[in-house]
Amino acid sequence: MSAQDLRSRYEAAFMPNYGVPPVVLTAGHGCVVWDADGKEYLDLIAGIAVTSLGHAHEQLGAAVANQVMSIAHTSNLFVNEQEVLLAEKLRELLGGEGRVFLANSGTEANECALKLAIKYAKANDRTYFVAAENGFHGRSMGALSLTGKQSIREPFGPFALDVRFVPYGDAEALREAVTGDCAAVFLEPTQGEAGVVPPADGYFAAVREICDAAGALFVADEIQSAIGRTGAWFAHQHEGVRPDVLTLAKGLGGGLPIGACVGFGAAGELFAKGDHGSTFGGNPVAAAAALTVLWTIEKDDLLDNVTQVGTLLRDGIAAVDHPLLQGVRGRGLWLGAVLAPGAAGAVEAAARDAGFLVNAVQPDAIRIAPPLILTAQQAQTFVDALPAILDAAADALKEH
Ligand code: PLP
Repeated sequence: MSAQDLRSRYEAAFMPNYGVPPVVLTAGHGCVVWDADGKEYLDLIAGIAVTSLGHAHEQLGAAVANQVMSIAHTSNLFVNEQEVLLAEKLRELLGGEGRVFLANSGTEANECALKLAIKYAKANDRTYFVAAENGFHGRSMGALSLTGKQSIREPFGPFALDVRFVPYGDAEALREAVTGDCAAVFLEPTQGEAGVVPPADGYFAAVREICDAAGALFVADEIQSAIGRTGAWFAHQHEGVRPDVLTLAKGLGGGLPIGACVGFGAAGELFAKGDHGSTFGGNPVAAAAALTVLWTIEKDDLLDNVTQVGTLLRDGIAAVDHPLLQGVRGRGLWLGAVLAPGAAGAVEAAARDAGFLVNAVQPDAIRIAPPLILTAQQAQTFVDALPAILDAAADALKEH
């Protein structure tokens, strides 16, 4: 079927919430993908920071196929080995601590964290929650009530929970907002959907101290930042602090849908039997995929690769002198190239024409979040192509 055909059938068959994406992808291998017309792209977005091991990874494919052919689903009425191994592996990577709940997406991982926070609030007569302006925690009504990004939050308000928003990265504003009535603070270590916006160094340590002083839970939403994306297993590890609750998803499954919520200390003991659940949570196929992702990151030293190739990419972008490019932010293989206002869509399109998939995450920023296996050579091809991409985007912007 032609790309044009598929796109018009997509438009007719689906709700209009995504619009019609510009490209039909048909196959991938490593960091390369192909569209329905056979055009090749370097994938620098990885399904929005998901396909950690790249596409068509042999061990990942084998793990998934073997698990499907052994037992594809058990539900939470029965234990399966893969979910146990995965929870244990996550605990190992988190210093041997934490109690795990497995979900199917980032939003669901945050719903679990929010329910823990509500239990904590009820048990301790606390009444409200704090989150960051421009933050993103998901689209379900609970996760959306924590989401600061106005454009996606407002159409669905008002919300049942009292959530107070503070400017991201401003420790003093947070200190003022978090009183003894606050049950929990929800924050990303770097705001992904806001355009890969990191806070100043030391912010997470200040958040930890503020939550401790007020007796509020600190919930770190690492759905986008964890599983090696920044060069550490978890971004909070760069800051030397541990949250009370941690949420994960995206890169964990390498393309299979899975999320996790980890509670540390007393926060891991808040649920009583029956308080939460999910039919698919702990699914053995998704868990087998996640285990393969974690083992492969270890075996292939991918955290080092992320740091090295990420530095090359960041320095290479920073060295490009172009009127549309204003800077680059982020860490590891998770970067935001800051552009002139309104230029991101044109840069995304010009990059695509040149054979690179990036994402216009904000009107003035493109996000780069490739598979963790990106090579230095592949990163260099993008850096080399960037001046011409920016020229083409500038021409397109002039025409409109
Ligand atoms: N939290 C953060 C920080 C995210 O970046 C995302 C997705 O982009 C989510 C939550 C929601 O995850 P999902 O789309 O898997 O539900």
